[in-house]
Amino acid sequence: IRHSEDNGDHIFRSKYPPVSVPDNLTLPEFVFQDAELYADKVAFVEAVSGKSYTYRDVVRDTGRFGKALSSLGLKKGHVVLVLLPNIAEYGIVALGIMAAGGVFSGANPASHPSELKKQADAANAKLIVTNGPNYEKVKGLELPVIVLGEEHIESAINWDKLLEAADRAGAGTRFPKEEVLQSDLCALPFSSGTTGISKGVMLTHRNIVANLCSSLFSVGPEMIGQVTTLGLIPFFHIYGITGICCATLRNKGKVVVMNRFDLRTFLNALITQEVTFAPIVPPIILALVKNPIVDEFDLSKLKLRAIMTAAAPLAPELLASFENKFPGVQVQEAYGLTEHSCITLTHGDPLKGHDSAKKNSVGFILPNLEIKFIDPDTGRSLPKNTPGELCVRSQCVMQGYYKNKEETSRTIDKNGWLHTGDIAYIDDDGDIFIVDRIKELIKYKGFQVAPAELEAILLSHPSVEDAAVVPLPDEEAGEIPAACVVKNPNAKESETDIMDFVASNVAHYKKVRVLQFVDAIPKSPSGKIMRRFLKDTMIENMGKN
Ligand code: AMP
Repeated sequence: IRHSEDNGDHIFRSKYPPVSVPDNLTLPEFVFQDAELYADKVAFVEAVSGKSYTYRDVVRDTGRFGKALSSLGLKKGHVVLVLLPNIAEYGIVALGIMAAGGVFSGANPASHPSELKKQADAANAKLIVTNGPNYEKVKGLELPVIVLGEEHIESAINWDKLLEAADRAGAGTRFPKEEVLQSDLCALPFSSGTTGISKGVMLTHRNIVANLCSSLFSVGPEMIGQVTTLGLIPFFHIYGITGICCATLRNKGKVVVMNRFDLRTFLNALITQEVTFAPIVPPIILALVKNPIVDEFDLSKLKLRAIMTAAAPLAPELLASFENKFPGVQVQEAYGLTEHSCITLTHGDPLKGHDSAKKNSVGFILPNLEIKFIDPDTGRSLPKNTPGELCVRSQCVMQGYYKNKEETSRTIDKNGWLHTGDIAYIDDDGDIFIVDRIKELIKYKGFQVAPAELEAILLSHPSVEDAAVVPLPDEEAGEIPAACVVKNPNAKESETDIMDFVASNVAHYKKVRVLQFVDAIPKSPSGKIMRRFLKDTMIENMGKN
């Protein structure tokens, strides 16, 4: 590790030399570089339907879609809400928006219509892209909607017809109408950050290009065109769009697209599509280790060389059981966050037999990044082997939260450090270990759940006087949202009634799964919910029952 003390600060840098980041390419230009050399190679294939797009198709349709968006009046900086499951066209949709100067904002198809309205309003979206099954959820938003797929919907714009119209408008159309710069915004994923409700994370082309340059630093020329990546992580999430779609396109690999997790389909896809690299999350590793369905498959047929696990902590026992069951498969743990454009810490590229970090570490510092660990109370930076709040400074740090200066300045300090809300330390070899999370965020199977959002819904119930939501540990999901509720003295509702009320207003993964009635919510003198105390009390109460 390279360690320096700038102005008395303990700052850690990568053990690997810096990598250069091209300063004139937009994200679509960067990922499509040299695509013509791989024109006939499949870029995206759907695991179940077999529908596929070659590099020639992807580059062509990204251009067609970008042109079509410009013809619909999309201007630089306009946000397009994309409500799609993982499908073969997802990358084309996202990159087409970016190529036209627009800003791609992915939404979770599991969202409740009211959650989609909140995202569309918060992002000031100008247009929506979805498919037939999801159209109902957004048709009330009074925005133009483009619909992919066979279904004909009267009031929507059909994707195929839109692209054909773009063709008729002629190849001569100047595209893009306005020059898109690397410093322009290209994505607005949603994250609740360290506190409060979900907010738009402003990422530029530069942010994501820089993230890809750092995270792909060890991929040598011999790897280009060689990797088949599983595309199961949702593409609306930063891990899916940057870490899977863009990274694989940059390396001219193939993405095997899956839109939901089903163990048999998953194992079938790994075998028949000869997947070599599978980015997943800990709950899938748990299924691979524990579920007897796995024994129905001849695992010797697997071409899988590595899995990547990120988005939530991986229990050491689970890692050990996985290694036992899949001895030939390397486990590459990684750590990242939306506010840092994706990956931040990782193990070496196992496909290349690259130097790796220790087991149970989330990895080492990627090239070009600076890391420090601060005492959350004093803000002072800490030396190695001392846990503190992980802070990162690099070209991948978001521009800020969309239209939210207050939360932005709380998260990125005046010296450019992004405060992650995670507690970690670095050891003598430069390997980093995450030990705790101090931010409010709950991670259910890797998905973000913001306590503040659930608390607001609970408080909207006439029988609820006060409420607090905290994470409780869970073997399968990692964490589950749990609520403490102060009931109005005359209220007749049971715990289940209140939980059902929340469930009818949110996506299924945000449901409150444990609820306890209490006399009062413990708060600090400044009025902040004492979450740590509440969580411990809930666990204790559950032990008693
Ligand atoms: P998101 O922005 O949804 O990717 O969430 C980022 C957060 O997920 C981080 O700040 C961490 O709290 C958590 N996280 C991501 N990767 C890991 C990991 N490998 N181990 C533990 N927590 C992680």
